[in-house]
Amino acid sequence: MKILVLNAGSSSQKSCLYYIPDDARSQHISTELWSASIDWTKQEGMANLKVESNGLVVEETQATNDQLAVMKRCFETLCEGDTAVLETLAEVDFVGHRIVHGGRTYQQPTWITEDVKRTIEQLIPLAPNHNPANLEGIKLMEKLLPETPQVAVFDTAFHSKIPTTSAIYPLPYQWYEQGICRYGFHGISHQYCAEKTAKLLNQDLANLKLVTCHLGNGASLAAIKNGHSIDTTMGFTPLEGLMMGTRCGSIDPGIVIHLLREKDLTLDQVDVMLNKESGLKGLSGISADMRSITTEMENNDRAKLAFETYIHHLCRQIGAMVASLEGLDAIVFTAGVGENSAIVRQETCQRLGYLGVDLDVEKNKNSPKNEDIASNNSQVRVLVIHTDEDSAIAQTVSQIA
Ligand code: ADP
Repeated sequence: MKILVLNAGSSSQKSCLYYIPDDARSQHISTELWSASIDWTKQEGMANLKVESNGLVVEETQATNDQLAVMKRCFETLCEGDTAVLETLAEVDFVGHRIVHGGRTYQQPTWITEDVKRTIEQLIPLAPNHNPANLEGIKLMEKLLPETPQVAVFDTAFHSKIPTTSAIYPLPYQWYEQGICRYGFHGISHQYCAEKTAKLLNQDLANLKLVTCHLGNGASLAAIKNGHSIDTTMGFTPLEGLMMGTRCGSIDPGIVIHLLREKDLTLDQVDVMLNKESGLKGLSGISADMRSITTEMENNDRAKLAFETYIHHLCRQIGAMVASLEGLDAIVFTAGVGENSAIVRQETCQRLGYLGVDLDVEKNKNSPKNEDIASNNSQVRVLVIHTDEDSAIAQTVSQIA
């Protein structure tokens, strides 16, 4: 079957077409036939379209703000010209969407209906930066592929079974009843990495205690036991937990009260400060990008402070996940920083020596991908996994189709 996956953000849309043989649905075998990204951030009123297929990379620019028109052009490249891999769009069997917030309602991938769309809309206050774009993506696909069944795969779903003691905040109980609790995010990636780790270690996921570290611009950890997320660092929103590129992660909520009460800041200003002006960017004053931080930290004290604080928070929270797991078999690094920054992995693992973590320094340096980089003596395995949320969504869709 052919499955088109759409990952729709507010300023970019990524789509991939996968082929999954009918007899390989449960085996995680998929072939990426075509991928495209639309980026609206490069120039006001301009969409940059980049298509990769048949070994080619084709780029073009569309001077319009009309999302439907650009998506239509994007999908024309599926069936026309050198990038074509289909005769007609009708060959797409299913569309899978990454939906960031499924609240308490959606703990499984779900066929999209009017009801499902309404619920995703109702959840917008919980994910104001993501759910509106996700919903818009669904509506665009309904216009472009009206006959094709669509499935929503939720980033919160993998965490939906974390124990109440981890999900609940110690606030007045009625807030919990009103849905103010830990949801957790990056679930598609955490689950994908956990399954891939079990395969690479040739072990049953049900017997493993894992801490998966999804370290991208946004970053979160998951404590995974018996194949389930039992704890995670992100919470009610993606702001909690680790220090990130521009987000502060966990801070004393009293700081927010202080800023609002004493510093005469508006709510929106505090929101921007915590989400966009903090983290690596806020501490270094240089960049939210770990590449710039590690390059600059030789000569710049603030960059060094930002790096060391990032590692401190990461190790502290890994410790918290290990406490929830009551043990540890493997640590998994993934996403932009986790997959590419040897120094982040080295500094982190060095500080986790007390847990029996021992890195093979050479393996760590040699751009590992889907590899165990712990030394032979290490009591805890250390893996670098290339996360592939889109193929995970395609696989999930194929399993319910
Ligand atoms: P997102 O969280 O937006 O999906 P990614 O997972 O791709 O993004 O992570 C992007 C981040 O990964 C960049 O901002 C940068 O900090 C980091 N990154 C990417 N490549 C490297 C690298 N070679 N070394 C260190 N950090 C890197």
